[in-house]
Amino acid sequence: MANKKIARALAENLRALGIEEIATEGESSAIIEALGGEAAGAEGEAGRADILRREAAGVEKCRRCALASGRTHAVYGDGNEYAEILFVGEAPGAEEDRQGLPFVGRAGQLLNRLLEQVGLKRSEVYICNLLKCRPPDNRDPVPEELAACRPYLDKQLNVIKPQIIVCLGLFAAQAILNTKESMARLRAGEHKIGDVVVIPTYHTAAALRFPSYKQQIYDDLCRARDLAYG
Ligand code: SF4
Repeated sequence: MANKKIARALAENLRALGIEEIATEGESSAIIEALGGEAAGAEGEAGRADILRREAAGVEKCRRCALASGRTHAVYGDGNEYAEILFVGEAPGAEEDRQGLPFVGRAGQLLNRLLEQVGLKRSEVYICNLLKCRPPDNRDPVPEELAACRPYLDKQLNVIKPQIIVCLGLFAAQAILNTKESMARLRAGEHKIGDVVVIPTYHTAAALRFPSYKQQIYDDLCRARDLAYG
């Protein structure tokens, strides 16, 4: 855990200096092991940032489902490749589609504020969605799209190996936990996948419509923070 913390802080600092990568192809897997546990997946010696960058490039060209035809940009994910906390939302919205980055619209700005309020920096967490391309008119994802896109999320989880997954919204919570339970019931329960704690909470877009959800998201973020760093 301490090594992963050092790696995360190093990744943050280098990114602040405009250096995008801390572990490049050809780097010794022993160094990767020392920083963050075992080398990321089957790629062996490739660094986490490198693997994620390659995956993102693949997603830009992906045509596994019909959403490919309507996108401006695919939105792979963004954040610290050594994050203890990984956020999963539903799908990109209009602003995300324009910029190619997750949670950059109004819902993303609310998420940023809530992260700040609980003492978390966006640069230390990782944020992505179930779907990497925007559904038309922000309609709900359909099962075929979720199934087609799921391998990309599974790869992100495999590479980043977060300690906590925070599911933003019912779609993300139900997909990650493979359930049809309501958000109220999911929030009331405790969830784990292996050693990884899963925390379902409301999507910040819902909190823009129903401001009372903000407090509940705040409480769930506090729990994630305490479990990751407490
Ligand atoms: S939503 Fe996912 S599966 Fe569908 S085209 Fe985009 S990246 Fe590919």
